Amino acid sequence: MSVRQLFARRRRLAAGLSDPERTLRGVLLHKGRRCSSEGCRCRRGELHGPYPYLAVYSGGRSRTIYVPAAVEAACEAHVEGTQRNEELLLEISQINLELLRRRALE
Ligand SMILES: [Zn+2]
Repeated sequence: MSVRQLFARRRRLAAGLSDPERTLRGVLLHKGRRCSSEGCRCRRGELHGPYPYLAVYSGGRSRTIYVPAAVEAACEAHVEGTQRNEELLLEISQINLELLRRRALE
């Protein structure tokens, strides 16, 4: 690819980035839960749910946060948009690395 083509590809990728204010890093997952009631069926392995959780990784450890139904769709949209943005940023970075090698970075 020529330098000119790299610049054009970089511009196209950057145009595909969505609103950074909606960045939410994590993985949406669904899992069952046990309740606090002693005689409940969940004690025999029939868990309640599944309920949505967001698994987030920060500071070297991961934790899961319950996602209430009222914000589940928004959470999913944020997470998906963030994953798309990160793929785009990765590719933009690779293009910039190639431009650096060719001394064409500006
Ligand atoms: Zn239960």
